[in-house]
Amino acid sequence: MLLFAEPSGTHSRQGKEKHATGTQLLRKAGGSVFYRWLTRGPRIQGTMPHQHRITRIEALSCRCPIHTPLETSFGRMSDRPAVFVRLEASDGCCGWGEVFANWPAAGAEHRVNLIARDIAPLVLGQTVADPAAFFRDIEAKTRLMALQSREWGPFSQAIAGIDTALWDIKARAVGLPLRKLLNPDAADNVRVYASGIHIDAADAELARARDAGFNAFKVKVGFEPGRDASAVRSLIETLGPDESLFADANQAFDAERAKSLLFALADTPLGWLEEPIAADAPEAAWKDVAASTQIPLAGGENIAGTEAFTDAINAGFLTFLQPDVAKWGGISGCYAVARAATAAGRTYCPHFLGGGIGLSASAELLAAVGGNGLLEVDINPNPLREAFPTPDIDSATGMRPAVSGSGLGCDALPADLDRYVTHRIEVNI
Ligand SMILES: [Mg+2]
Repeated sequence: MLLFAEPSGTHSRQGKEKHATGTQLLRKAGGSVFYRWLTRGPRIQGTMPHQHRITRIEALSCRCPIHTPLETSFGRMSDRPAVFVRLEASDGCCGWGEVFANWPAAGAEHRVNLIARDIAPLVLGQTVADPAAFFRDIEAKTRLMALQSREWGPFSQAIAGIDTALWDIKARAVGLPLRKLLNPDAADNVRVYASGIHIDAADAELARARDAGFNAFKVKVGFEPGRDASAVRSLIETLGPDESLFADANQAFDAERAKSLLFALADTPLGWLEEPIAADAPEAAWKDVAASTQIPLAGGENIAGTEAFTDAINAGFLTFLQPDVAKWGGISGCYAVARAATAAGRTYCPHFLGGGIGLSASAELLAAVGGNGLLEVDINPNPLREAFPTPDIDSATGMRPAVSGSGLGCDALPADLDRYVTHRIEVNI
């Protein structure tokens, strides 16, 4: 499984062959239009070709302390960071994006510097009519910098935030919520699930999530297969008839240990097991795990690049595709992947565990894509998410309203975040 592929823009012979395979798959699944989405991005219907000359970039990192570290199978978060980016155009339009910053622990401030010093010179003064075309262009222009530094992740994440901000500008310029710009028939609410729940704290956390209206939940496993299976089975017995449970191993196991966990849960209604093995494990290992079970597999937060997502969809071992809008692709890349996944009969479920801008962007993407996917909503305390308007969940349906207002619904960062700002850079022309 090729996951950490060099960003698209390289057109090797091998890459062309892979695209050909993806084309065949996607044509079979729903038509060549979806291959166009993967390789050339969305074509927005019925919108005026507004152009925006970017004149100012602001990037800032925030950190807020937390009482209880957030534990995963690969590490712990001892505070909650976020990086937000704001673009301003000469016509006065502005837009917001979010950049993944959960790891490494000191990475948030680095991404602010990366945007200000390496990305801003490629954005300022540019006139953008088509964010998807700009995304492909900036991926190509930064490829050698990313190769030189081996910092594929930070570059991808910074570009994802820029792309989201450009789409926010575009939607706000025409007075539409982003989902309606992407798809005039987009839904106005999305189904949600409660996330960020450690299996050892699940009883109390599920009760708290139910009180907030959730009827679907995801627990963090990946510690020891036997113990994980026992805890998940016990938890499933406590679920109501309309409730769903998912589990996330955060890449913790090798194929044999993953299969042992899945075997132990074979007779349960577990909705999916997420990242049972490393995202960059060989495709044969993923297929081996998938073939061993009827429990669907999920993944995508650690896949980056159009080719890598095409390969993952093509290979068929993932039932649920989970690209993260703040890690790779922004709106342009994730919408294309989500449309391709849906066309191939898979379900798009955006991955997200960060601040309020990225959560809104994920909700808008899901509403625009449609299907049976769910929005991941972290239920751990985090002012960087909670300071933003938080729509109530309808407990009867497990749905929450999408963004109100235009774009991503954010005119300015909430003033409550000022106390958490650790680094801020503004660059003008
Ligand atoms: Mg995950």
